[in-house]
Amino acid sequence: MAEKRISGYDSLVRKCYRSGGYVFARRAGGVPGNGESCRLARLASNENPTPPSPLAVEMGYRALQEANRYPDERMEELTSALSEFHGPYHFVTGVGMDGVIETVIRILVEPGEKVAISVPTFSYYSLAALAQGASVINIPRNPDFSVDIPGFITQANGAKISFLCTPNNPTGTVTGPDDVEKILTEISGILFLDNAYVEFCDRDYRALMAAHENLIIGRTFSKAYSLAGLRVGYAFVPEWLVPIYMRAATPFTLNAVSAAAAIGALRDPGHVHEAVGRVKRLREEVFEKCRFPVTPSGANFVMVDVSPMTGKEVAGCLADAGVLVRSCESFPCLGEHYIRVSIGEEWENTRFLDAINAL
Ligand SMILES: *Cc1c(COP(=O)(O)O)cnc(C)c1O
Repeated sequence: MAEKRISGYDSLVRKCYRSGGYVFARRAGGVPGNGESCRLARLASNENPTPPSPLAVEMGYRALQEANRYPDERMEELTSALSEFHGPYHFVTGVGMDGVIETVIRILVEPGEKVAISVPTFSYYSLAALAQGASVINIPRNPDFSVDIPGFITQANGAKISFLCTPNNPTGTVTGPDDVEKILTEISGILFLDNAYVEFCDRDYRALMAAHENLIIGRTFSKAYSLAGLRVGYAFVPEWLVPIYMRAATPFTLNAVSAAAAIGALRDPGHVHEAVGRVKRLREEVFEKCRFPVTPSGANFVMVDVSPMTGKEVAGCLADAGVLVRSCESFPCLGEHYIRVSIGEEWENTRFLDAINAL
């Protein structure tokens, strides 16, 4: 009976997550947004709880007023805003970083070719590679979730493209630029370095672009920049990839509103800085106060080992307390005893800590 209730809650969590919490709230007798007590703590998908920068909103609004016109096909304004922000690199853009990953795999991988993935990690690499008919090799991390560098190099041998996520989703583990460079110099294929959460750690991987023609660094506006709903991703790419990508991508990789809002977000670094500061402070609080082991994290989330309970059970109990977290049992090579918890607002963090410490 207990089993059944918990698995019911798990699907409820998933439903809540999709419907923005209304299902849970209705059952709890509240309306989301109507006071903290019946508001859900939405800590399941690593979103930024801070709304977008007012400048992003204003620029998106202005673009919307001119939405009768097609956007610039080459996304030149966004690309030059990226150059202004990062320096003279080569960029491609996509509908979220997911869109960039899909296009990169479609243009570089032939059916039957090998794609290597450092696991446990974000599942979209493998989904996109399998959709292209690739043969996917999972390269397991060390027991502490650091990357086994020699093991990675050996097993990525012969792969057309390899995926490495730092800070890694869902573990939060940071692999430093020196280790990434060791991999880059040893492998024959391309390395896709996923930097979706890089703003939350104090590492900079961009300098690696200069010396490596086989490196792609993926970035997104969905996390630190608070624009998940607008779907804006981009990547630092070697120059040779730009024309191939442009030929293969849909004619307008992004819509005008998303592109304009992203430019606005880039021009308001103070807004991001504030969100990052909050994440670092509250992440520290979780490390100090959570009574379960928390894996060191450089991201806007932490992974918690809830053994001997399963992630699914704990996600169910936390949902009961109005806290939505992600159970990690679906991540390959991780086991079933972990949850992933986003760092949200102060009250969300507090509610999460109270709820998990009361288990
Ligand atoms: C969120 C996330 C992305 C991409 O997000 P988009 O919203 O598609 O830009 C990419 N990689 C990882 C590891 C993520 O967690």
